[in-house]
Amino acid sequence: MKSHEIASRWLSYFEKNGHTVVPSASLISSDPSLLFTVAGMVPFIPYLTAREVAPYSRATSVQKCIRTGDIEEVGKTARHGTFFQMCGNFSFGDYFKPDAIRLAWQLLTSDVADGGFGLPASRLWITVYHEDEEALEIWRDSIGVPVERIQKMGKKDNYWSTGQPGPAGPCSEIFYDRGPAYGVDGGPEADDTRYVEIWNLVFMQYQRGEGTGKDDFEILGELPKKNIDTGLGLERLAMILQGVENMYETDQVRPVLDRAAALSGKAYTSAESPEDPHHTDDVRMRVVADHIRSSLMLIADGVTPSNEGRGYVLRRLIRRAVRAMRLLGVEKACLPELLPASRDAMKGVYPEVEKDFERISRIAYAEEKAFLRTIASGTARLEEAVRESLAEERPLSGQDAFTLHDTYGFPIDLTLEMAEEAGLAVDADGFRSLMLEQRRRAQADARGKKAGHADLSVFNELLGRGQTIFTGYDELTSEATI
Ligand code: ATP
Ligand code: MG
Ligand code: MG
Ligand code: MG
Repeated sequence: MKSHEIASRWLSYFEKNGHTVVPSASLISSDPSLLFTVAGMVPFIPYLTAREVAPYSRATSVQKCIRTGDIEEVGKTARHGTFFQMCGNFSFGDYFKPDAIRLAWQLLTSDVADGGFGLPASRLWITVYHEDEEALEIWRDSIGVPVERIQKMGKKDNYWSTGQPGPAGPCSEIFYDRGPAYGVDGGPEADDTRYVEIWNLVFMQYQRGEGTGKDDFEILGELPKKNIDTGLGLERLAMILQGVENMYETDQVRPVLDRAAALSGKAYTSAESPEDPHHTDDVRMRVVADHIRSSLMLIADGVTPSNEGRGYVLRRLIRRAVRAMRLLGVEKACLPELLPASRDAMKGVYPEVEKDFERISRIAYAEEKAFLRTIASGTARLEEAVRESLAEERPLSGQDAFTLHDTYGFPIDLTLEMAEEAGLAVDADGFRSLMLEQRRRAQADARGKKAGHADLSVFNELLGRGQTIFTGYDELTSEATI
């Protein structure tokens, strides 16, 4: 089943069940304190927090999302993209736990011929919040999931709150067992590679009071109007339904991966284990495929490369993709080959990427060119530093590596790689301590600048289903490898 069919099946199922279909909002969050839309619920925050009255009592969407917090996982796990689509259904004071669970189960397990996704029930595992007996009973008694496949989890995994007084409540998640070839027995608790999380159901039922953090707060009582917020990862379901190894091999991403492989002249082998000799190259191809798609979608939504905020995230994605191609042995500009492949894979669902491609590609290609120039000028400076170090029979200094990074925008992994080629070690400790020093300065600076601005930490917590918010200088300066 193709990705676009998963999306339309999702929407028509919930529409049939009384939900209003709401088109995806932009990746640029409507809330100025939030850099990106990180979950399907973001456009509905005013309704979920009862700041505004919802114009419908049930809604459904397939929302474009960006999670920069998952960037380091990309290509290494099977299931983390920086861009992905979250299918959601929402109830604003309308149906609650029993219906939310029943609707989810029915959609996943009904036959494809009946409008469902046809997953075998025996492959599905459930987690519930350990004090949520009600959810446990629904899964066990009404749905009939064997208790052995229901696991109780703590606050960290299965509780949602805004991080401040407001709505809160337990979650219940649905996992798919990929089988013994992917890991050990024992359910999601034991192995998150074999058991892939596909759907999170959030039951907003309590009024949360004050507390010191995400796990430690007081519950004041039941909410007068309870809400449902759910999110299913479209790419994760596509990976299962398409019988591929990971989300980068699904129909909307794979063409870019293949293009990267062809350009590099290397075969892509689906390597999962770091012990596999193909793993490093395969991860690079998956990173390229992911980052190119994210860049396409970000530029389509109006983001342009810059040195801060959203633009910096975009810049970093493009540079990481270019860098990965270079590590795959391709030094020429690759985006003119890769970006059209991503456009063609996405345009069926997002026609704007084709209509606006002239503008999108101009921005992306210019950014790649600029980075390639950076690499070229940094290379001259690096070669000079290498000559000096060799003459003085010492490693390349931390200061040199830092200057290359800081002044020339030359990524540290490139410095390490090129120094190694010249038979030279790099004073990595010296480099790290200079980076730390700079980071501390930037943080002090950022604290000064933040005065009077909205507190981002609130939103970090609000969307506490993963570290997904770009919080500014922390991420920027700790990431030396761009
Ligand atoms: P995980 O634990 O696997 O990182 P999560 O708990 O952070 O996932 P949620 O915040 O619960 O994810 O988001 C709801 C759903 O969105 C997940 O169940 C998953 O299917 C999907 N999802 C979340 N993050 C990603 C991502 N980076 N790439 C693709 N799909 C994702
Ligand atoms: Mg999770
Ligand atoms: Mg989750
Ligand atoms: Mg996560």
